[in-house]
Amino acid sequence: MSKNRTRTISCQRCGKSFDVLIWDSLNADTDPEQREEIKKGTFNRYKCPDCGFTMILQYSCLYTDMSHAKQVFVIPTDFDKRLEEANRYFDLLEKKELQTVADIADNCSFRAVHDFSELREKVNMWDNGFDDAAMELYKAMTRAWLETREDGGKPVSKAFFSSENGKDEIEILFEDGSAGAVDFVPDLYRDITAKYGDDLNSALKSRCFSVVDFDFAVNFMGGAVTENNTESEIVEGTFT
Ligand SMILES: [Zn+2]
Repeated sequence: MSKNRTRTISCQRCGKSFDVLIWDSLNADTDPEQREEIKKGTFNRYKCPDCGFTMILQYSCLYTDMSHAKQVFVIPTDFDKRLEEANRYFDLLEKKELQTVADIADNCSFRAVHDFSELREKVNMWDNGFDDAAMELYKAMTRAWLETREDGGKPVSKAFFSSENGKDEIEILFEDGSAGAVDFVPDLYRDITAKYGDDLNSALKSRCFSVVDFDFAVNFMGGAVTENNTESEIVEGTFT
């Protein structure tokens, strides 16, 4: 069940106070409108009623989507400490003290993310039929390709799966501040799932909130991710 409350915040531009709705937990099945807002990136944006300035709030939220067997804990502050606390919950499951949740937990994916943009990315991945762990490998390989290409490779600070307007692509932010997007290559993704899918599944089998991100991909690959880990080639993207 979803749980929300009203909080008063102050506009960062004009200082005027106004009320916003904060979701401590969000059930995607009972609140599909909020789920859509997460997918669009508007869920945690708040517009000042006085001056129109838009602010982005990050706060803790437990996102549950039982139809898709996913639960994601959004932890913007004290990440490591709060993740550890949350994972003690699974020790209770192991002891069968929470039998009904334990029954659900067996086939559910549990993830921990730092903010709502990471939650947004995951929900979009899952909705488009992708596995988030395989997609992190895909993104890591895309980064490696961009950083080492002969015609001007440069360091990448972030890669982000996007499916705006029905087109799958990897949005890229470079360390020099420039940005762009690389077309998604289904063949490369298929290669990755065929080659690493089983190992990824067993790496994530334990019942706890797992962090599946770039570091996860690098650790999984043993430290070295290159664009040559599979047969398929990444095609040219558009960069600005
Ligand atoms: Zn304002």
